[in-house]
Amino acid sequence: MNNTGISIRMTAVIALFSAFFFMERALSQGLDYKIKIHTPLINKSKKEIVILARKLGIVEILKWTHTCYEGKRPGCGKCPACVLREKGFREAGIKDPLFNL
Ligand SMILES: [Zn+2]
Repeated sequence: MNNTGISIRMTAVIALFSAFFFMERALSQGLDYKIKIHTPLINKSKKEIVILARKLGIVEILKWTHTCYEGKRPGCGKCPACVLREKGFREAGIKDPLFNL
């Protein structure tokens, strides 16, 4: 929590919603066509995303995603993005296919 009582995660979600809102507006004006950007994963935790991938039978596709801030593949395992990814797979009880390359 920050001093406003809003969690850092919620602050990030609000910032992302704002960014998508402005992108939609800019694209719609630039293309003169109503654009809607759908973000079905924006409110889901990493664990929920991994579980959803399993439910859809697409966990193997996640080996093609890249999250490491250090640009390493399969990942440095130390940066915040790698730590969150590992936590999400661990909590979901699923082995990260990124490490099966
Ligand atoms: Zn990393």
